[in-house]
Amino acid sequence: MAAPAAPDRVERIVIENCAIATVDAADTEYASGHVVVAGNRIESVGAGRAPEGLENVVRRIDGTGHLATPGLINTHHHFYQWITRGLATDHNLFDWLVALYPTWARIDEPMARAAAQGSLAMMALGGVTTAMDHHYVYPRGSGDLSGAIIGAARDLGVRFTLARGSMDRSEKDGGLPPDFAVESLEGALAATEATVDTYHDASFDAMTQIAVAPCSPFSVSTELMRQGAELARRKGVRLHTHGSETVEEEKFCHELFGMGPTDYFESTGWLGDDVWMAHCVHMNDSDIAAFARTGTGVAHCPSSNARLAAGTARVPDMLAAGVPVGLGVDGTASNESGELHTELRNALLINRLGPHRERALNARQALRLGTYGGAQVLGRAAQTGSLEAGKLADLVLWKLDTLAHSSIADPVIALVLGAAAPVTLSLADGKPVVESGRLVNGDEDAIARATRDEARRLARIAAGA
Ligand SMILES: [Zn+2]
Repeated sequence: MAAPAAPDRVERIVIENCAIATVDAADTEYASGHVVVAGNRIESVGAGRAPEGLENVVRRIDGTGHLATPGLINTHHHFYQWITRGLATDHNLFDWLVALYPTWARIDEPMARAAAQGSLAMMALGGVTTAMDHHYVYPRGSGDLSGAIIGAARDLGVRFTLARGSMDRSEKDGGLPPDFAVESLEGALAATEATVDTYHDASFDAMTQIAVAPCSPFSVSTELMRQGAELARRKGVRLHTHGSETVEEEKFCHELFGMGPTDYFESTGWLGDDVWMAHCVHMNDSDIAAFARTGTGVAHCPSSNARLAAGTARVPDMLAAGVPVGLGVDGTASNESGELHTELRNALLINRLGPHRERALNARQALRLGTYGGAQVLGRAAQTGSLEAGKLADLVLWKLDTLAHSSIADPVIALVLGAAAPVTLSLADGKPVVESGRLVNGDEDAIARATRDEARRLARIAAGA
């Protein structure tokens, strides 16, 4: 990594005249304010114009008609599913998995690369500056899938966590995936450790981090859960998995382990402030209390949960108990849009259909889930997730002065409840990722062609298998 420039030579970007939602601890907002970016950090945020006399200003942006927010942070995804969208559309989770595993088990490195580019491009265009991928399908002889995925994120310029997944409980062991789709216990642990050693960056401004991420209780042995947790703690990296997604999973845990998912996670070392779990839909009061007591985080995926008829996570109760909660699009085989900014809206709407009704979530809380909450569950809250001096320059300038939004009274309401807002500029680590609605470091049309071609190639291979 290059040494930081001397302070007096740091290049500055000045953004002025925009509304600002900082998502800091006090939810500070400015009707018209400024953000000064110096290098890869936020130097100042405040009301009115930027301070006079700033040196080395390389760019000055008039944000009139815009809202500036922290960059959105996605906390659960499966990039490879970008090339299996629109399949098994009327299934619940277990039926959907059984329908798709045989196709997924045929992926190779070019497919993983194209799918990662498609998933990342879609999210970046919708304001994501920190992405994650929970990848757990590593067919034998498929190439360097983790390297391809990490390379795609680096090329596009977003901050990224690869949750190196694994499966070792196949049908012959009472699991859900077919035998040929899984790794051995030893193979999964060794490959995960090698991925951490090769790619994990623990620094403040890391662009790439690795988490240890066995897939789910119904596709992973108890030993892989236990040893995976030990590996993560030995390496000082985070842990991620799927938890309490459906009633079928709850039944599976009771039948196989004699306890519910949360108790099973606790028994295998999987509750703690270094753990976050996707979904957590079927949680009773004591499950939520256990997450709160241990600081275990949740990736709330409202669209995927609705698509697979899984149910509604008790997000208001989790937040009231102090559980860290972020948002996830989940894989695009169960959420074909793959956009995180629509999840802000869906989190609010779906939770208002629950028992807390209109008090379930408001627009500010929804924006917090998609920004600061995401940073918390990824373990990056000291570095990103809010617009504050000293934090990394990960931000989005949303265009709110067109037909879709110009008559909505409040810019945060416009962003959360209005149509998906165009991104005029997004910065990750102080560098542009999107400019005027286009990728800076990628060709959207070329990615669309590549993902279509790889989706067709995978379908042909799977049909002939
Ligand atoms: Zn998932």
